[in-house]
Amino acid sequence: MKALQWQGVNKLAVGEVPDPEIRNAGDIIVKVNRTVTCGSDLHLLGGYIPFMEKGDVLGHEFVGEVVETGPDVRNHQVGDQVVVSSFIACGKCWFCEQRLFSLCDNGNTNPAITETLWGQAPGGCFGYSHAMGGNPGSHAQWWAGPGRVYRGDRDGGAHSWPAVPLRPGQAAASPADRPAGGGPRRDSRLP
Ligand SMILES: [Zn+2]
Ligand SMILES: [Zn+2]
Repeated sequence: MKALQWQGVNKLAVGEVPDPEIRNAGDIIVKVNRTVTCGSDLHLLGGYIPFMEKGDVLGHEFVGEVVETGPDVRNHQVGDQVVVSSFIACGKCWFCEQRLFSLCDNGNTNPAITETLWGQAPGGCFGYSHAMGGNPGSHAQWWAGPGRVYRGDRDGGAHSWPAVPLRPGQAAASPADRPAGGGPRRDSRLP
């Protein structure tokens, strides 16, 4: 498939990369319909956040259509329109149980880097350097990742979720787009 790849500081190119595949039974594959450029992409592009490698695929906020589901996926089916946020969460660890998905203990395959830099490893992120797991991003034709649903509207506390159904006419807001002091914007919650 085609994807937008980081080729070096301030250098991008569209290239061919392997198609994504279901790696865990709870994964889904999503055909990317819209993917946005976040301000954080500029930090990665310009080398402000190190640990990028030549060929890495950028992008971590997008909407799309589910085209394949793993055998354990119950909340999605092929054809669902979904909005996908950037953190990869297992849904089972202590942090996920507290609905602190961006701190998931199992989402980042390279925790030593951020433990050393920041004293604590956050969860894994896709399209966000090898410090955050080295996962391919969404500036591509297809994306694969966790298909579990964490709906922030149930308790108003969660602001990060891997994949949530999106119906025509609904607006999606970035989890980063929230008022000072934290908490999701009201219009970022999906009914
Ligand atoms: Zn972002
Ligand atoms: Zn977790």
